[in-house]
Amino acid sequence: MANNNFFLGIDIGSTASKCVIVDGEGNVIAHEKKDSGAGTPAPRETVDAALASCNITEDDLSGICATGYGRNLVKATNEAARQVSELSCHARGAASLFTDVKTVIDIGGQDAKVLRIDDKGNLENFVMNDKCAAGTGRFLDVMAGVFGCKVSDLSKLDEQSTETTSISSTCTVFAESEVISKLSAGNPIPNIVAGIDESVVSRTAGLARRVGIVPKVAMVGGVALNDSLRRRLEKEIGYPIITSSFAQFNGAFGAALIARDKYAAGSRKVAEKSSVS
Ligand code: ADP
Repeated sequence: MANNNFFLGIDIGSTASKCVIVDGEGNVIAHEKKDSGAGTPAPRETVDAALASCNITEDDLSGICATGYGRNLVKATNEAARQVSELSCHARGAASLFTDVKTVIDIGGQDAKVLRIDDKGNLENFVMNDKCAAGTGRFLDVMAGVFGCKVSDLSKLDEQSTETTSISSTCTVFAESEVISKLSAGNPIPNIVAGIDESVVSRTAGLARRVGIVPKVAMVGGVALNDSLRRRLEKEIGYPIITSSFAQFNGAFGAALIARDKYAAGSRKVAEKSSVS
């Protein structure tokens, strides 16, 4: 495919908007993220910033594909062709981002999923937790708020732990109260963070065991950036877990590659008529 073809993938999440532009060869030429999600100006702003960074306009795009919680924000003449489930996008993205990956763990702001994929990035099976915030990025965001730190600081805090102060509440609201009372009782913050990470790890490992863990295992989504949590999860499931600094863009990357696949399969007409609201 010509290298002057450009494809946009946008993942409008519950907490963050991510967008990726790939060229005709599937190489990433731009990526942008804003820490606000569906219903905010962030999706539009990430798209504008990504287009500007490679000096093109929306008219230069040969295809757009949207995924995530707010994917219906992308207007299209053919909805089926333009909006793709996060599962398919994460499967497609992970198969390109990593080599020989069979199990993909995605923990985002609102849900946690474990996917089994084949060599081509097709989804074979999955399980997900989307009914409550426990075990998701939201749970970690709430706990970071209790400590008055950023969610990106939790990993370093966990590294300083000397033991694990376990958190027994399974509901985020009750767990928040439990964390506050453990703090008041004098437990060091790093040990409580270790307990919080263990709580996410045990939920995620439970999902992974349900779907069946086949190596190689990769972790994507924003929570993959939490190194301490990922290392604890490796220990718990008994397999190394690979990841990438690009992990949070995996869904948007997969969406861009799917837009490219569709274009290659001849859906050019649909691609030309779509736009991002
Ligand atoms: P969504 O698509 O639902 O918006 P993401 O995959 O973008 O979810 O992940 C968002 C979550 O990732 C946040 O809720 C937060 O807990 C976590 N996160 C984001 N950035 C970091 C970081 N630098 N370090 C650790 N965790 C992070």
